[in-house]
Amino acid sequence: MSTELLHKAYRGDLFKEEGNDLIALLADHLTKTKEGTPSKVTRWVPPQAEYDFWKEYIKEEHSTKAFFSTLLERSIHTHHPKYIGHQIASAVPVSALATLFSAQLNNGMTVYEMGQASTAIEKNVIDMFLKTIGYMQGDGFLTSGGTLANLTAMLAARKAIADDDIWNDGHNSKLAIMVSEEAHYCVDRAARIMGLGSEGIIKIPVNEDYAIRAEVLEAYYDKALANGRQVIAIVGSAPSTSTGVYDDLQKISAFAKAKKIWFHVDGAHGGAAIFSSKYKYLLDGIDQADSVIIDGHKMMGTSSITTAVLFKNDVDSYATFEQKAQYLWDKNDDPEWYNLGKRTFECTKSMMSLRFFAIMNAYGTQFFDDNVTVLYDAGREFGTYIEEHSDFELALTPISNIVCFRYTGNLNPEAYEEVNRKIRQELLEDGEFYIVSTLLKGEFFLRTTFMNPFTNKEHMELLLKKIKEIAVKIEQITINI
Ligand SMILES: *Cc1c(COP(=O)(O)O)cnc(C)c1O
Repeated sequence: MSTELLHKAYRGDLFKEEGNDLIALLADHLTKTKEGTPSKVTRWVPPQAEYDFWKEYIKEEHSTKAFFSTLLERSIHTHHPKYIGHQIASAVPVSALATLFSAQLNNGMTVYEMGQASTAIEKNVIDMFLKTIGYMQGDGFLTSGGTLANLTAMLAARKAIADDDIWNDGHNSKLAIMVSEEAHYCVDRAARIMGLGSEGIIKIPVNEDYAIRAEVLEAYYDKALANGRQVIAIVGSAPSTSTGVYDDLQKISAFAKAKKIWFHVDGAHGGAAIFSSKYKYLLDGIDQADSVIIDGHKMMGTSSITTAVLFKNDVDSYATFEQKAQYLWDKNDDPEWYNLGKRTFECTKSMMSLRFFAIMNAYGTQFFDDNVTVLYDAGREFGTYIEEHSDFELALTPISNIVCFRYTGNLNPEAYEEVNRKIRQELLEDGEFYIVSTLLKGEFFLRTTFMNPFTNKEHMELLLKKIKEIAVKIEQITINI
C-alpha cells in the first residue's frame, strides 16, 4: 500500500501555500464586498443546474486555489451591504479564523482532555452570558445551533417539571408546551421529537403587534388541563423570527411562576440584545427565565454555528442527559463541569467557544453591544423610511432589525400578494439585493433583516427604488395582457 497520497494530503508546506491563498482570497472578497463592489449579492442558479455544475466540476482537475475561487463566485455574500435577507451574521473575520483553527486542531470537546483550552474558554464565555443576563446561580454550555439548544432546554424543562420520570420510564402521561403562534418552527419540532404530538404544542394567538396575548394564557392553560395534559413549559420569543417582535417576558414569567411551570426564552435571534445598553429593555424579565438560548451566529457576529444554552439554576444544566458512559467519564454522580459531553446533545463538537472568545479577546464585549445596537437602529430607520414612502406599507412598526413590508403602489389590494411574490422572485433572480418574504396572519410580506453593520440609508433607498421599478414592470406586463 503506497502512502504517497496520504503524505501529500498532510503536507505542511502545501497547507501554508493554499492557506495563504485562501486567506488572501477571502480578505480581498471582504474588502470589496463590504464596499458593495461586486454588483450582485448572489448569482441565482436553480438547484438542479447547480448540482449538475458540481457533478461536472469534479470530473476535471482543479487546484485547491481554483476550487475556492469558483466556490466563492457561486456562494451568497453575507458581507455585502445589500444582503438584507435571512438572519445570519456577517461573520467577524477573527471569528472565522477561530473556526479555521478549530477545524484544523479538531479538539473533540466531549471530555476535558480532548479540549482543554476550549473547554475552559467555554466556561468563561458562559460566565460572560450569565453575568450579562443577571443569573446569579446560573450555568450553561454551548451547542450546535438554536434548534438543538431549544430542544435541550425543553428536555431540561421536562426533567424538572413533569411528574413522571420519562427519561427512564418512557411516556405514561400527556405533556404540553405553550408557545406563541409566531414562534420559530423548531419549538414545534422539539415538542414533536419529545413525543408530545400536535396537541402537545399549544399555540397561543398573538395581538395586533404580533406579541403573545398574555391575557389568554390562563384560558389556554385551563383547556389543556381539562384535556388531560400536564403543561410543563411556556416559551417566550425574543423576538419571533418572522416579525422581530419580543413577547412580554415579564408577563410570561409571572404566569409561569403562578402555574409552577418552566419559563424558557428563545433568544436565538435577539437574546443578544442583553449586550445593548440601548435595547436591553426589550428583554426585561429575562433574568426570571429558567432557561435562555442565544445564537452567536445571528446577532453576535460569530461564524456558524454556536449557541449558548443558559440556565438560571446551575443544577438544571446537568439534568438533561443522564446517561452512563463509563468509557468517557469515571463518576456519574459528580457534575464535572469540564466534561461537556455530559451536558450536550452532541458527543464530538467543534471548539465553538473560540468563535466568541476571539471576538472578546480582540474587541471586548463592547463589540456585541455595538453590533446589536447598530443593526436594530438600521431596522428602525428603514421602518421610518418606509412609512414616509407612499408606495409601500409596513406590516408593523419594526422593533428590531427585522422589517416586514410590501409594495402597494396603486395596486388593488387583491393584487398585493401576487405582485409582491413576483417582486421577491425577481429580486432573487436579479441578485443585486437579497431579501426574503414571510406570511403574517395569512398575508404575504417582503421581509428584510439588517445583519450587516455597513448597510446604510443609501442601500435602503436603492432597494425601494429597485422594488418600485420591478413593480412598475410587472404592472405593465399585467396591463398588456
Ligand atoms: C433562527 C432561530 C432559531 C433557530 O436557530 P438555528 O441556530 O438556526 O438552529 C430558533 N428560534 C428563533 C427565534 C430563531 O430566530
